[in-house]
Amino acid sequence: MKRISSLTALVTLTLASPLFAAGGDTEWSYSGPQGPQHWGSLSPEFATCGSGKNQSPVDLAGMIEGDQPTPQFHYAESGETLVNNGHTLKITYPEGNALTLDGRRYALKQVHFHTPSEYTIDGQTYPMEGHLVHADAQGNLAVVGVLFEEGQPNEVLAALGKELPAQGEQRDLTGESLSPTAWLPTQREHYRLNGSLTTPPCTEGVRWLVMKAPVSASSSQIDAVREAIGHANNRPLQPVNARLIVE
Ligand SMILES: [Zn+2]
Repeated sequence: MKRISSLTALVTLTLASPLFAAGGDTEWSYSGPQGPQHWGSLSPEFATCGSGKNQSPVDLAGMIEGDQPTPQFHYAESGETLVNNGHTLKITYPEGNALTLDGRRYALKQVHFHTPSEYTIDGQTYPMEGHLVHADAQGNLAVVGVLFEEGQPNEVLAALGKELPAQGEQRDLTGESLSPTAWLPTQREHYRLNGSLTTPPCTEGVRWLVMKAPVSASSSQIDAVREAIGHANNRPLQPVNARLIVE
């Protein structure tokens, strides 16, 4: 297992940091009066959270068979920054990592985590889920969801070290060798559906691929992510409505 010793440059950010204003100036949270049931009414910009018909996450069930081309992952470049923005732990990526889907190129922007999982498969929740967020040249989003199960330690999480940034902190990852390929299961079978961002403003038109095979992380690694975030950060399941879930 690789050990990375130079991931120590912590930059402390204040609560006034733009990181806390991501998605607009409206505060939101995962519980209480600013929790998911209220997101749609917190701000006009968040209205889709309440009125959208293609919201994520959903329970993946009742799939229909589809003839899907295999997504091609062209990942090479390591992460830039590991950020704890109070809502999630997020790794940002530089240009150079791409997903080709149905002939269109989507660049990997960031990977972040939810504990427990947001998507469920036939009602089953997983202890953690990673979201690999990609955008094409027009800004259309394709997000790959990877479910984590408890098992062998995860190589990338191990490389990030035991000390994850606390809320409002970030760490420079430049120069480290952490290819995003390690986030993906070897098997590329997946479920596809049309969905949304799972955080405000809950924008729709997101192409979702949820990998069928989970990847593993040790229970202490999953605990470390959960503790760094400080609270559950999974949006409740949303209605499927008229959508088809293809496998
Ligand atoms: Zn997410």
